[in-house]
Amino acid sequence: MSNSLQQAIQFDQQHIWHPYTSMTDPLPCYHVKSASGCEIELSSGEILVDGMSSWWAAIHGYNHPQLNAALHAQADKMSHVMFGGLTHQPAINMVERLIDLTPAPLDRVFIADSGSVSVEVAIKMALQYWFSIEQPKKNQLLTIRGGYHGDTFAAMSVCDPVNGMHHMFRHALCNQHFVERPAVEFDDEWEPSSLSSIQQELEQHHTEIAAVIIEPVVQGAGGMRFYHPEYLTQLRELCNHYDVLLIADEIATGFGRTGQLFGCDHAGIVPDIMCVGKALTGGYMTLAATVTHAKVAEAIGQGQGGGALMHGPTFMGNPLACAVANASLSIIQSGDWKTQVPRIECQLREELGPLKRHPSVADVRVLGAIGVVELNKPVNVARTQALFVELGVWIRPFGRLMYIMPPYCISAQQLSKLTHAIAVYLETTTN
Ligand SMILES: *Cc1c(COP(=O)(O)O)cnc(C)c1O
Repeated sequence: MSNSLQQAIQFDQQHIWHPYTSMTDPLPCYHVKSASGCEIELSSGEILVDGMSSWWAAIHGYNHPQLNAALHAQADKMSHVMFGGLTHQPAINMVERLIDLTPAPLDRVFIADSGSVSVEVAIKMALQYWFSIEQPKKNQLLTIRGGYHGDTFAAMSVCDPVNGMHHMFRHALCNQHFVERPAVEFDDEWEPSSLSSIQQELEQHHTEIAAVIIEPVVQGAGGMRFYHPEYLTQLRELCNHYDVLLIADEIATGFGRTGQLFGCDHAGIVPDIMCVGKALTGGYMTLAATVTHAKVAEAIGQGQGGGALMHGPTFMGNPLACAVANASLSIIQSGDWKTQVPRIECQLREELGPLKRHPSVADVRVLGAIGVVELNKPVNVARTQALFVELGVWIRPFGRLMYIMPPYCISAQQLSKLTHAIAVYLETTTN
């Protein structure tokens, strides 16, 4: 490693916080020079096959010609203007496509600047909806344990209260309703009793519950678990029955990752409010959206409280982000993911499945382009990361979870390199 590279990494270590990392005892970071297709090139020369899609986001791979072109073209016209009192074609084009993709009747869109903010807006919409129609007592949320909805305060209040990364703040958070996570896994036979705890909670507390918020089918950062779609189908009916809104957090599951366009599509349901983010711009920039239907939008618009939805970030509708998102959504619309994701799923099942027999492995789960190897004990992240870099792959484990969710354009050979690295990890580590 060159001297200047070493200095840069040292500076980073002393001055820059990384996600969920200590400033005094940080985990090592690798300095990236560039990324292209499904590969990340380190400044120290190694080329790594990407198994993370930069946290669900870079679904089309890095340095994509179409996304680059959209970004360059927009930068030459206008990088940003305020969205208050002004509008522009990148936002309009992006929202048109988004409405095209989301199930009817979802067609009213609030453009947010990150996933967490889109969750804040979804919660605000739900509370303001009930306030507007003069039921202000309906101002709490119901969710399942094991969830993750973001790092801002309202989003934190619906993350798993025990395993969530936010337990330190629990005294500063709104008290919400929690029930057990669905006991039936995606591939298991449906068991009606798994719905009883959420049904009871709704029965007892529906007069104070504004909305149920849930990650459809896949619980992501809260444990990478896949539950039965029938749970969603029946939850939709329960929400109708008890007059409670349903918020689907599709920030991780949206845009094909689970094998369907949206997680909700596994159950054929439509939520009242849907959050999308992460892959919305193909991983180029931060952008998210909260999508709802006319009933919610019009109640807020005509109701008590003046009619305005009380949110408006400075960089709302950023034209650069909207232009890239528009290009990313057009790639989704072209439909290649419909063959890419099942191909990845099939190969993940074949290559990760046999690892289930390894004594250090508690479970192997695959759904769409997501492969999870759950270990019996937590991994040593720094040591494992170093091994993976040596093997030419980028996989970042957390806790007892080793998981991959590659860009959809990954080749069979590149994918094998990822699954092989996990197998090597198991062979070389006494877990
Ligand atoms: C990542 C994520 C969020 C938060 O999005 P950010 O862009 O990181 O704020 C919210 N919900 C789910 C399900 C996520 O996976």
